[in-house]
Amino acid sequence: MSPDMSKQVVARKLEVNGIVQGVGFRPFVYNLANRCGLKGEVANTSSGVVICVEGARSAVEAFTRDLAEQPPPLAHIVEVTSTEVTPAGYTDFSITTSRGEAAMATLISPDVSICDDCRSELFDPADRRCGYPFINCTNCGPRYTIIDDIPYDRPNTSMKHFTMCGPCQSEYDDPQNRRFHAQPNACAACGPRVTLFDNRRNEVQAADPIAAAAELLRRGKVLAVKGLGGFHLAADAQNDAAVTRLRRLKHREEKPLALMAADPASIRSFAAMTIEEERLLTAIQRPIVLLVKKEPNAISKAVSPRNRYFGVMLPYTPLHYLLLAHGFAALVMTSGNLSEEPIAIDNNDAFERLAGIADFFLIHNRDIYLRSDDSIIRHAAGEARLVRRSRGYVPVPIFLKKKVPPILACGAELKNTVCITKGKMAFVSQHIGDLENLPTYDFLDLTIRHMKRILAVEPEIIAHDLHPDYLSTQWALQQPDVEKVAVQHHHAHIVSAMSENRIDGPVIGLSFDGTGYGPDHSVWGGEVLIADAKGFTRAAHLDTVPMPGSAAAIKQPWRMALSYLHRAFGEQYRRLELPLLRSVTAEQVRIIDEMMEKNVNAPPTSSLGRLFDGVAALVGLRTEVAFEGQAAMELEMIAADTVVKPYQAGWTAGDPLRVPTGPIIEAVVSDVLAGQDAAVISARFHQTLIGLFAGLCDALRKASGLQAVVLSGGVFQNAILLTGLIKALEQKRFAVYTQKLVPCNDGGISLGQAAVAAARARR
Ligand code: ZN
Ligand code: ZN
Ligand code: FE
Repeated sequence: MSPDMSKQVVARKLEVNGIVQGVGFRPFVYNLANRCGLKGEVANTSSGVVICVEGARSAVEAFTRDLAEQPPPLAHIVEVTSTEVTPAGYTDFSITTSRGEAAMATLISPDVSICDDCRSELFDPADRRCGYPFINCTNCGPRYTIIDDIPYDRPNTSMKHFTMCGPCQSEYDDPQNRRFHAQPNACAACGPRVTLFDNRRNEVQAADPIAAAAELLRRGKVLAVKGLGGFHLAADAQNDAAVTRLRRLKHREEKPLALMAADPASIRSFAAMTIEEERLLTAIQRPIVLLVKKEPNAISKAVSPRNRYFGVMLPYTPLHYLLLAHGFAALVMTSGNLSEEPIAIDNNDAFERLAGIADFFLIHNRDIYLRSDDSIIRHAAGEARLVRRSRGYVPVPIFLKKKVPPILACGAELKNTVCITKGKMAFVSQHIGDLENLPTYDFLDLTIRHMKRILAVEPEIIAHDLHPDYLSTQWALQQPDVEKVAVQHHHAHIVSAMSENRIDGPVIGLSFDGTGYGPDHSVWGGEVLIADAKGFTRAAHLDTVPMPGSAAAIKQPWRMALSYLHRAFGEQYRRLELPLLRSVTAEQVRIIDEMMEKNVNAPPTSSLGRLFDGVAALVGLRTEVAFEGQAAMELEMIAADTVVKPYQAGWTAGDPLRVPTGPIIEAVVSDVLAGQDAAVISARFHQTLIGLFAGLCDALRKASGLQAVVLSGGVFQNAILLTGLIKALEQKRFAVYTQKLVPCNDGGISLGQAAVAAARARR
C-alpha cells in the first residue's frame, strides 16, 4: 500500500470471543490502542469484547495484529471478527463499563497460580500487601471456584462479602493498573483473612497464623489447610510418623500422597526432573507432576510406597508460598477428604469431616463455591498427558472440529467428569470422582447445574454410559423431556481421543481399560474397535475369562490369576508349584473353581486391566489391592529396563478376532517356575502385548485399509505400553493418535460421549 493510504483514517470494529473477561483484557486493549495512537472504545457485550478503533490504517493494522499475538497471560482468544466501519470521530480511547447483558458469551478463566509480580510484592517489605495471603491481580488468582453466576463481576463471586478499601478501589478503577477490574482484588485492610483453629473449633491466637501453622507442622501435626479449590491435609513430608498417621486416619492405605515443595531446587533434592517436567511444574496451572524419585531421598517412605514416582507440585496460592517459606523440604498436601468422598470446601463441612484427621485447621473466610481438585499430569512418550484434569485447566474448552448441538454428557462411574458442549466448544468439568457415594452424586448434580448456569446452555441431548447401573446413567435417565443417547464405554474412549485430535475416522481404536459395559452384557476392556464418531464394530478382543466374585476379583487379583490359570491349564493348574498357589488356601481355590464351573457370580470379562492384575499376582507382586489398577501399576513399576524377548502370542481367526490369554499365561508360568526375575517377566509381558497388538493392527489394516490407530483407555496410563506401542505402530507407518488434553482414563469418557451424541444427532 502507498504511504498516503497508510495515513488515511479508517475505523474498524473487532469482536473478540474466548476467555477475554476478568483476565486484564480491556486494560490490555486500552494500553495497546494508546501505544498505537488510536482512538475509540472497548466494551464487554453479549457477543464478547467489542472494540472500536479509529486512526491511521497502518496503526489499525498493527493494533489488530498485536491484539491476536500478545494477549495477557490468562486470555484465550477463540475468534476475532473484524469489520470496517465509518469513523465516528472519537476524541480518546476509553473503556466502557459492562453493558446490560454483558459477557454472556465470554468464557470464565480457570483458577491459576499467583503471578510473578504478585509474588514479589508478597515478599517485599515495602509493599502494602507484604505477607497478605490473598494478593492477586488480573493476571492471577481464583476465578472458576469463586463464581456463582455470570457475568464475572464481583457481586457474582464469593468476594461480594468484602468491600474494597480506598486504595484497593482506586487500583480497581484505574485502567493503567494491574488490578483494573480484578474482581478478587483485596488487601489486609479490606479483604479475606486467615485464622488458625484447633480441631475442637477453638481459635488459636497467633500474631501470624501461618507461622504458627508452620511450627505445628514442624512438630509433626496434621493440618487441614484451605486452598483454592478445596481443603488439603498437610504434614511435614520428612516426618514418617506424621505421614503414616495421616494415611491411617484418612483411610488411604497405599495410594501415593501429593507433595508440595517451595521451588524446583527443593524438588531436585528428592526427584529427577527434565526440562519439560520443570516447565509443567512452573506453568500457571500448577498441576501435580509425576516425577521419578531420586534414591536415596529424605522424604518419608510412607508418601509413595512401591512406586517409582512422586506426585509433586509447586505452591500456587500466596498462602502456600507463605507456608512453604518456613523451610520445609516438602509438605504432603493431599486432598482434604475421607477416603473417596469429595474434598471439603466449606469451613463447617471441613470441621465436621476432617476433625478426626487434622489436629489444626488453617482456614479463611473467602468461600469456595465450586470444588476443584489438583490436576495431575505426566510426561510420557514425548508429551504432557493429563491424568486428572481439574484445577487450572477447567473450564478451558476443548475445541471441536465442527459446531454441535448443546449436549450434556454424564461420564462414567469412576473418575467421573461431565461435559457440556456449546457451538464448537466442549467444556469438560473438573474431576468429580468415583460415583460410589451420595456426596459424590450430589457433587455431580451441583456441577451440572453450575456449568449450565455459567455457560448459559440448556442441553437438548443427554449422553450417558450404556451401563444401566452407573449413578451417572441414572442421573441422565431421570431428566425429563430430553433426548437421551446411550454410548458404549470403549467407543467413548476412542471418540474422546478422536475429538481432542480433531479427526473423523474411521480408525482402528485400541480401547484398553479395567471395566466397561459391553452390548453383550459382558465386561469389556481389551477391545480393538473399528470406529468413527457415530458407531463402531468390535474387530478384535481379548478372550473372555470369568471374574470369580465379580467386583471382588478387582480387589483381589489372586482370583483373576486363578481364572487365567484355569483357562490355560484346565483343572490341572492346581498342581503347579506356584508361590501364588501356596499363598491361598485349598478352600479358597475350591470356592473359586466352583464359581467358575457353575458360572455363579463369575461374569465373563475381556479386560486387559484384569490380565495385568492376574500377571501381577502370578509373579508374586500382590494378591490384594487397595485401589483399582494398583497391581497393574506396580507391574509396570518393576519392569526391567533391558531388552527382553517377548513371549509367543497371537490371535485366532473369526469375527471378531480373539486374542487368547492361555499362551501368555503359560509362558509367564514357565518363567516363574524357572525362577525368572519378576522384573524380567514384567518386561517380557509388556513387550508381548506391544508386538501382539501392533501386529493385530497390521492385519486389520490389510483387511480395512485404515491407516490411523487411536490409543485410549486407562491401561494407556502405563508408559511402557504407551511408548512401546506408539513406536511399534509408527515403525509400521501408522498415524497414531493418543490423549493429551483429557485423560485416557475414565476422566475423558464424557468428552467422547458428547462427540458420539453429536455425530448421531447430525441427521
Ligand atoms: Zn498477580
Ligand atoms: Zn484493600
Ligand atoms: Fe474406561
